[in-house]
Formats: sequence, structure tokens, C-alpha cells
Amino acid sequence: MQQDALWQAVLGEIELSVSHGSFITWFKGTSLLKHSDECITIGVNNIFIKQHLELRYGDIITKTLAKNGLVSKQVEYKIMSAKSAKAPAETEQSFNNTPPAEAPVAQLARSTVPGNDLTHSYRQGLNERYTLDNFVVGDSNELAFAACQAVTSQPGTKYNPLFLYGGVGIGKTHLIQAVGNILAARDPSAKVLYISTEQFVQEFVDALRLRKTPAFARHYRTADVLIVDDVQFIAGKEKMQEEFFHTFNALHQANKQIIISADKPPKDIPTLEDRLRSRFAGGMSIDMQIPDLETRCAIVQTKAQNHGTNLEHEVVDYLATNIQNNIRELEGALNQLLAYCEMRGLEPTLTIATGLLNVNKARPKHLSAKQIIERTARHFQIPFEDIVGPKRDKDIVVPRQIAMYMLRNELKLSFPKIARELGRKDHTTAIHSVDKIDREARLDASLRMTINEIREHLYA
Ligand code: ADP
Ligand code: MG
Repeated sequence: MQQDALWQAVLGEIELSVSHGSFITWFKGTSLLKHSDECITIGVNNIFIKQHLELRYGDIITKTLAKNGLVSKQVEYKIMSAKSAKAPAETEQSFNNTPPAEAPVAQLARSTVPGNDLTHSYRQGLNERYTLDNFVVGDSNELAFAACQAVTSQPGTKYNPLFLYGGVGIGKTHLIQAVGNILAARDPSAKVLYISTEQFVQEFVDALRLRKTPAFARHYRTADVLIVDDVQFIAGKEKMQEEFFHTFNALHQANKQIIISADKPPKDIPTLEDRLRSRFAGGMSIDMQIPDLETRCAIVQTKAQNHGTNLEHEVVDYLATNIQNNIRELEGALNQLLAYCEMRGLEPTLTIATGLLNVNKARPKHLSAKQIIERTARHFQIPFEDIVGPKRDKDIVVPRQIAMYMLRNELKLSFPKIARELGRKDHTTAIHSVDKIDREARLDASLRMTINEIREHLYA
């Protein structure tokens, strides 16, 4: 008990000298196990934390312990996870920090069960733009990054499932997609599946309706790698949870890698069945934080450079300082700035950035789906009835896809809702349209300008 209080005092001091993100990532969940003149033993949750504390925080820990009257010859870290108790050899092994390509590469355990006749492509859901190389690493996401690297070198063996959780727009999807891309590239015949939970649930509902649940189950249970994004959306959907439980077990028993993301840890997802909760918690769970200012600056600079622009430091700093909670928004503001300047042949300056951001702050919150669709139709000079109607001519289809993209980006509507707003029965049309415009906008400056003009009118 006294030991506990002592450690809390030490932590209290450390908290004052490191960033909030680092503190949560590296120190939350540690404990003081033993102390003597010979050795102080600190309990940690996993090998990454052990190694990181040794490498980066050794000094500060020793000093703060000493300040609190704890002096000894040595400080050691002991891994306290359930896994380490079962497999002591694993805890001794130090984490291999070399890039995945050089790391010992384990083959994916291959599925022996025959596939199925669904028309899905096995690569479905992966987007090549997400890589580990273009992910900027800082204190807040370092642990998650390291775990993803480890999974790419040893899929299905350790850290299964890998569960990443944290708020919106902080890089969860980016990381888990990147792992999928690496594994898929390494073994092109492997069945690497990425699916958002929203889509997963929708497919399951469709399968139930069409009495095709066996095919659905077979499709997912024969994956070599299954990546399920935003799993909090499965909460409360009992049949889906039941199905997922069986999928999970089948894959886990066959040593297939499972990667899951959510906005909170399994224990905090309401109405998540206990048996799923304990499955999720059975592997490696990692808390991701919003990147600190330094990392946000690095992200802005990297993204601007990818776009071929070198931003002044003050512009980078302005964006990263003013948009703190969400990297997606930060990226959105940067893209808007770049598009605005591209359109007018200007260099991005602090004045322009400030002006744009202030306009954004003044945005009305109540924009309806109808307003967005109308504005898009008007931009292309086509009648509203056509954009939501059955016509499939190219000059109608493209505006319709852009409208879907706008609904997703501006209002964050679900895919089924987007499909309905545009008079489509099938939500997969919405998924493909949004994805298509998203991909094309990255390559096509005139499309970006179009989108920006529509947006400017909406918020004017
Ligand atoms: P989440 O899934 O946590 O809501 P995403 O992975 O979709 O967030 O990230 C939002 C956007 O921010 C994506 O475009 C992603 O590429 C980008 N992003 C987030 N974190 C980083 C990072 N550390 N480095 C580079 N890009 C990042
Ligand atoms: Mg996401």
C-alpha cells in the first residue's frame, strides 16, 4: 500500500516533466513491484513499454525515484501481462526495431479451407495510400507503430489480436491499413481482408436477408489476416457479435492475425458481449493519443511535401497549433489551403491560412444533405431530379459521385444513408463512389478545385 503511494508520488512528478501523450502511453499502468538497495522492480504491461522506459526514460525514472527516497543499484522492468506469464521466453526477447523488410519474416499461416463463391475480391478494402513509411511517428503513436511493425514481421504469432484504440482522426485506420498493405504485398495470394464495422454489419444484414450467412461466414473465417475497423459499432448488435465471435475463434485458433480498432478500450464499449470483450482484451491493446504539437507539425510538413509544396515554418506551426484534436481535420485544412492557393496561383502564407481557418470557424453547423446535393447539382448545371434519379449518363454519374463524397466528408453520413439520399438502393455504390472521388482528388487538381468551389459556396 505504502509502495503504491510512493509510486504514485513518483508518477506525479514524472507527469509534470513529460508530455501528456507520453505519460499516458508509457507510464499509465506501471507499478512498483519491489524495492531494495540492490534492485527496484517496476511492473509494465508489455515489451515495448519495457524497452522504451529503459531507453528513453531511464534517467528521469532513476532521478525521480531518488528524490522520493528510493535509491538502489539497479532498476529493472518486469512485464506483467497475462501473455508473459505463459511464455517467459517471449519477455526476454528484446523488440526488434529494424524495419519490417529486414526483420525476420514469418510466413502467414495459410488457410486450408476452400474459399467461397462470393464476388468479393480478397483485397477488398485496402487502400494503398496508407503505408508505414508515410506515417509520422511521435510520442503519442510510437507504441502503436512499433506494435504494427512487429505484427508485419510476425503475423499471427504474437499480439493477436492487435487492438488499437483512441479518438477520431488520430491515425488508427492509417496504421491498420498499412499493416494490411504490407502483408498483402508480401504474399499476394494471401487473403488479407480489411473491413469497416459499418460495412461488416451491413454485409451481415444483407446475408441474413438473402439467406446467405454460410457464404458470409466462410468468406471471413477463411481470411489469412482480418482487419476490422471501428469495432465499437458492433455494440448492441447481438447476432453480429455472435457471428464475429465465431469468426474470431476460427481465425485465432488457426493463428491468423486479427487487427481491430475502436474509439475506446474493450472494457468501455457498452453492450459489447463479455465473451467478445475478453477475446479482444486477450492480445495486445494499445491506447493511441492525439499527436503532440511537434508531431502535428511534422505531419503537416510531410503532407505538404508529398503534395510538392514546401510550407513556411510559420504556416505549418499555425495550422498545427490551431487544429489540435484531429489529424483528419488538420489534413483537411492543409488540403484546403493548398487547393485555394493552387487555384489562384498564390504561395501559401500565414495570412491566407489565417483567413481560411477563420472562415471555417464561422461555418454554419446545420447544413442538410439536400443543400449539399442541390449545390452540387447546380455546380454542374444539372437538375436535382437527375442527380437523385435513375439516369446513368457520365455527366450525371460523376456529379452524383461527388455529391456522395461531399455528404461523407461534410456531414459524415453513413454509407447506407448516403445511398438513400441519392436514391440508390445499394450502399456499396456509395462506398465505391466516395472511395473513387477520394482517390481521384488526390491526383487530379481540377477535381480538387471543383470540390473546393462547391464547398466554398456551401459555406459562403
Ligand atoms: P482514425 O482512424 O484514428 O480516425 P485515420 O487513420 O483515418 O484516423 O487518420 C486521419 C487522417 O490523418 C488520415 O488521412 C491519416 O493518413 C492521417 N494521419 C493520422 N495520423 C498520422 C500520422 N502520424 N502520420 C501521417 N498521417 C497521419
Ligand atoms: Mg478510422
